Amino acid sequence: MIITIDGPAGSGKSTVARKLAQRLSIAYLDTGAMYRAVAYQVIKENAENADHAAMATIARRTRLSLGCGPEIARVLVNGRDVSGEIRTLEVSRVTSAVASVQSIRDLLVEQQHAIGASLGSFVSEGRDQGSVVFPDADVKFILEASDRRRAERRLEDMCSAGESVSFDEVLEHVRQRDAADEHQWEPLLAPGAAIRIDTTAMTIDEVVDTLADHVRTRTAET
Ligand code: C5P
Repeated sequence: MIITIDGPAGSGKSTVARKLAQRLSIAYLDTGAMYRAVAYQVIKENAENADHAAMATIARRTRLSLGCGPEIARVLVNGRDVSGEIRTLEVSRVTSAVASVQSIRDLLVEQQHAIGASLGSFVSEGRDQGSVVFPDADVKFILEASDRRRAERRLEDMCSAGESVSFDEVLEHVRQRDAADEHQWEPLLAPGAAIRIDTTAMTIDEVVDTLADHVRTRTAET
Protein backbone atom coordinates (compact mmCIF):
# COMPACT_ATOMS: atom_id res chain seq x y z
CA MET A 1 0.00 0.00 0.00
CA ILE A 2 1.29 3.45 -0.89
CA ILE A 3 -0.14 6.50 0.89
CA THR A 4 1.06 9.99 0.02
CA ILE A 5 0.72 13.07 2.21
CA ASP A 6 1.60 16.40 0.61
CA GLY A 7 1.21 19.90 1.93
CA PRO A 8 2.97 23.08 3.01
CA ALA A 9 5.40 23.64 5.87
CA GLY A 10 3.71 23.37 9.26
CA SER A 11 0.56 21.66 8.02
CA GLY A 12 1.39 18.92 10.51
CA LYS A 13 2.20 16.41 7.83
CA SER A 14 5.49 15.08 9.24
CA THR A 15 4.03 14.10 12.60
CA VAL A 16 0.83 12.88 11.00
CA ALA A 17 2.66 10.82 8.37
CA ARG A 18 4.84 9.16 11.01
CA LYS A 19 1.90 8.40 13.29
CA LEU A 20 -0.21 7.06 10.43
CA ALA A 21 2.68 4.79 9.39
CA GLN A 22 2.97 3.56 12.98
CA ARG A 23 -0.73 2.87 13.17
CA LEU A 24 -0.72 0.92 9.90
CA SER A 25 2.62 -0.77 10.76
CA ILE A 26 4.21 0.31 7.51
CA ALA A 27 7.30 2.39 6.71
CA TYR A 28 7.55 6.17 6.60
CA LEU A 29 9.40 8.08 3.90
CA ASP A 30 10.27 11.70 4.79
CA THR A 31 11.29 13.23 1.46
CA GLY A 32 11.73 16.72 2.95
CA ALA A 33 14.59 15.26 4.99
CA MET A 34 16.35 14.36 1.73
CA TYR A 35 16.18 17.94 0.41
CA ARG A 36 17.27 19.18 3.83
CA ALA A 37 20.20 16.78 3.89
CA VAL A 38 21.45 18.09 0.54
CA ALA A 39 21.03 21.67 1.83
CA TYR A 40 22.99 20.74 4.95
CA GLN A 41 25.87 19.52 2.79
CA VAL A 42 25.68 22.63 0.56
CA ILE A 43 26.08 24.81 3.68
CA LYS A 44 28.90 22.62 4.94
CA GLU A 45 30.73 23.21 1.66
CA ASN A 46 30.01 26.97 1.86
CA ALA A 47 28.06 26.80 -1.39
CA GLU A 48 24.74 28.31 -0.26
CA ASN A 49 25.23 31.23 -2.66
CA ALA A 50 26.66 29.10 -5.46
CA ASP A 51 24.91 28.53 -8.79
CA HIS A 52 22.59 25.62 -9.53
CA ALA A 53 25.27 23.58 -11.29
CA ALA A 54 27.57 23.73 -8.26
CA MET A 55 24.73 22.72 -5.92
CA ALA A 56 23.81 19.84 -8.22
CA THR A 57 27.42 18.62 -8.20
CA ILE A 58 27.38 18.57 -4.40
CA ALA A 59 24.04 16.71 -4.43
CA ARG A 60 25.43 14.04 -6.77
CA ARG A 61 28.51 13.56 -4.57
CA THR A 62 26.52 13.38 -1.32
CA ARG A 63 25.78 9.91 0.04
CA LEU A 64 22.33 10.00 1.61
CA SER A 65 20.96 7.29 3.79
CA LEU A 66 17.46 7.40 5.20
CA GLY A 67 15.99 5.32 8.01
CA CYS A 68 12.35 4.70 7.17
CA GLY A 69 11.14 2.86 10.26
CA PRO A 70 7.83 4.26 11.50
CA GLU A 71 9.31 5.22 14.87
CA ILE A 72 12.12 7.55 13.88
CA ALA A 73 13.42 8.85 10.58
CA ARG A 74 17.22 8.97 10.76
CA VAL A 75 19.14 10.85 8.11
CA LEU A 76 22.78 10.15 7.40
CA VAL A 77 24.92 12.37 5.17
CA ASN A 78 28.14 10.68 4.10
CA GLY A 79 27.75 8.32 7.04
CA ARG A 80 27.16 11.04 9.66
CA ASP A 81 23.83 11.30 11.53
CA VAL A 82 22.44 14.80 10.87
CA SER A 83 18.81 14.11 11.86
CA GLY A 84 18.75 17.05 14.31
CA GLU A 85 20.98 19.45 12.39
CA ILE A 86 18.80 19.47 9.26
CA ARG A 87 15.88 21.05 11.18
CA THR A 88 17.36 24.52 11.76
CA LEU A 89 15.99 27.70 10.16
CA GLU A 90 19.26 28.16 8.27
CA VAL A 91 18.96 24.73 6.67
CA SER A 92 15.26 25.38 5.92
CA ARG A 93 16.19 28.55 4.04
CA VAL A 94 18.84 26.89 1.89
CA THR A 95 16.54 23.89 1.31
CA SER A 96 14.18 26.10 -0.70
CA ALA A 97 17.06 27.01 -3.04
CA VAL A 98 18.20 23.39 -3.32
CA ALA A 99 14.64 22.22 -4.02
CA SER A 100 14.33 24.66 -6.91
CA VAL A 101 17.14 22.97 -8.85
CA GLN A 102 15.51 20.57 -11.30
CA SER A 103 18.49 18.22 -11.62
CA ILE A 104 18.56 17.83 -7.82
CA ARG A 105 14.84 17.06 -7.84
CA ASP A 106 15.39 14.45 -10.57
CA LEU A 107 18.18 12.85 -8.55
CA LEU A 108 16.14 12.72 -5.33
CA VAL A 109 12.99 11.51 -7.10
CA GLU A 110 15.04 8.65 -8.56
CA GLN A 111 16.24 7.78 -5.04
CA GLN A 112 12.67 8.01 -3.72
CA HIS A 113 11.51 5.51 -6.37
CA ALA A 114 14.30 3.13 -5.34
CA ILE A 115 13.52 3.50 -1.62
CA GLY A 116 9.78 3.06 -2.33
CA ALA A 117 10.44 -0.14 -4.30
CA SER A 118 12.50 -1.56 -1.44
CA LEU A 119 9.89 -0.63 1.20
CA GLY A 120 6.79 -1.98 -0.56
CA SER A 121 4.16 -0.45 1.74
CA PHE A 122 4.77 3.01 3.12
CA VAL A 123 3.48 6.50 3.89
CA SER A 124 5.40 9.07 1.87
CA GLU A 125 5.42 12.72 2.79
CA GLY A 126 6.46 15.82 0.83
CA ARG A 127 5.22 18.28 -1.77
CA ASP A 128 5.10 16.18 -4.93
CA GLN A 129 4.60 12.65 -3.68
CA GLY A 130 1.06 12.10 -4.95
CA SER A 131 1.65 13.98 -8.19
CA VAL A 132 5.20 13.41 -9.50
CA VAL A 133 6.77 10.64 -7.46
CA PHE A 134 4.01 8.10 -6.73
CA PRO A 135 1.12 9.09 -9.02
CA ASP A 136 -0.36 5.59 -8.69
CA ALA A 137 -0.53 5.75 -4.87
CA ASP A 138 -3.53 4.00 -3.29
CA VAL A 139 -4.59 6.98 -1.18
CA LYS A 140 -3.42 10.59 -1.60
CA PHE A 141 -3.84 13.36 0.94
CA ILE A 142 -3.10 17.05 0.94
CA LEU A 143 -2.95 18.74 4.34
CA GLU A 144 -3.64 22.44 4.69
CA ALA A 145 -3.74 24.97 7.55
CA SER A 146 -3.73 28.74 7.96
CA ASP A 147 -0.28 30.32 7.71
CA ARG A 148 -0.45 31.63 11.31
CA ARG A 149 -1.31 28.19 12.66
CA ARG A 150 1.51 26.67 10.63
CA ALA A 151 3.97 29.27 11.93
CA GLU A 152 2.87 28.49 15.50
CA ARG A 153 3.57 24.80 14.97
CA ARG A 154 6.98 25.49 13.40
CA LEU A 155 7.88 27.80 16.27
CA GLU A 156 7.00 25.09 18.80
CA ASP A 157 9.22 22.59 16.92
CA MET A 158 12.10 25.03 16.69
CA CYS A 159 11.91 26.14 20.31
CA SER A 160 11.88 22.55 21.50
CA ALA A 161 14.94 21.97 19.29
CA GLY A 162 16.66 24.81 21.21
CA GLU A 163 16.53 27.47 18.47
CA SER A 164 15.84 31.07 19.43
CA VAL A 165 13.56 32.56 16.78
CA SER A 166 10.57 34.88 16.95
CA PHE A 167 7.03 34.16 15.76
CA ASP A 168 7.28 36.92 13.13
CA GLU A 169 10.48 35.47 11.72
CA VAL A 170 8.93 32.04 11.41
CA LEU A 171 5.70 33.45 9.91
CA GLU A 172 7.66 35.35 7.30
CA HIS A 173 9.65 32.25 6.45
CA VAL A 174 6.47 30.15 6.18
CA ARG A 175 5.04 32.70 3.75
CA GLN A 176 8.24 32.77 1.68
CA ARG A 177 8.25 29.01 1.47
CA ASP A 178 4.59 28.99 0.46
CA ALA A 179 5.41 31.28 -2.43
CA ALA A 180 8.39 29.13 -3.46
CA ASP A 181 6.56 25.81 -3.12
CA GLU A 182 3.17 26.94 -4.42
CA HIS A 183 3.26 25.28 -7.84
CA GLN A 184 4.32 21.94 -6.39
CA TRP A 185 1.00 20.70 -5.13
CA GLU A 186 -1.17 22.36 -7.77
CA PRO A 187 -1.83 19.03 -9.57
CA LEU A 188 -3.14 17.58 -6.31
CA LEU A 189 -5.65 20.39 -5.90
CA ALA A 190 -7.60 19.23 -8.96
CA PRO A 191 -10.98 17.79 -7.96
CA GLY A 192 -10.65 14.13 -7.01
CA ALA A 193 -6.83 14.10 -7.22
CA ALA A 194 -6.31 14.00 -3.46
CA ILE A 195 -8.31 14.14 -0.24
CA ARG A 196 -7.88 17.65 1.22
CA ILE A 197 -7.89 18.14 4.97
CA ASP A 198 -7.72 21.50 6.73
CA THR A 199 -5.87 20.87 10.00
CA THR A 200 -6.04 24.45 11.37
CA ALA A 201 -8.43 23.59 14.19
CA MET A 202 -7.56 19.91 14.58
CA THR A 203 -5.19 18.12 16.96
CA ILE A 204 -2.60 15.78 15.49
CA ASP A 205 -4.53 12.76 16.78
CA GLU A 206 -7.73 13.98 15.16
CA VAL A 207 -5.91 14.35 11.84
CA VAL A 208 -4.42 10.85 12.12
CA ASP A 209 -7.87 9.40 12.96
CA THR A 210 -9.39 11.16 9.95
CA LEU A 211 -6.68 9.91 7.58
CA ALA A 212 -6.88 6.37 8.97
CA ASP A 213 -10.67 6.39 8.39
CA HIS A 214 -10.17 7.44 4.77
CA VAL A 215 -7.55 4.72 4.26
CA ARG A 216 -9.93 2.11 5.71
CA THR A 217 -12.77 3.28 3.47
CA ARG A 218 -10.62 3.40 0.35
CA THR A 219 -9.04 0.01 0.92
CA ALA A 220 -12.43 -1.57 1.73
CA GLU A 221 -13.70 -0.26 -1.62
CA THR A 222 -10.97 -1.98 -3.62
O1 C5P B 1 8.78 18.92 4.62
P1 C5P B 1 9.97 19.78 4.95
O2 C5P B 1 9.62 21.06 5.62
O3 C5P B 1 11.01 19.02 5.71
O4 C5P B 1 10.62 20.13 3.53
C1 C5P B 1 11.64 21.06 3.42
C2 C5P B 1 11.64 21.70 2.03
O5 C5P B 1 12.03 20.73 1.07
C3 C5P B 1 10.29 22.22 1.54
O6 C5P B 1 10.03 23.55 1.92
C4 C5P B 1 10.43 22.13 0.04
O7 C5P B 1 11.08 23.28 -0.46
C5 C5P B 1 11.37 20.95 -0.15
N1 C5P B 1 10.67 19.71 -0.54
C6 C5P B 1 10.38 19.53 -1.87
N2 C5P B 1 9.80 18.36 -2.28
C7 C5P B 1 9.51 17.38 -1.40
C8 C5P B 1 9.80 17.57 -0.02
C9 C5P B 1 10.37 18.77 0.37
O8 C5P B 1 10.63 20.43 -2.68
N3 C5P B 1 8.99 16.23 -1.82
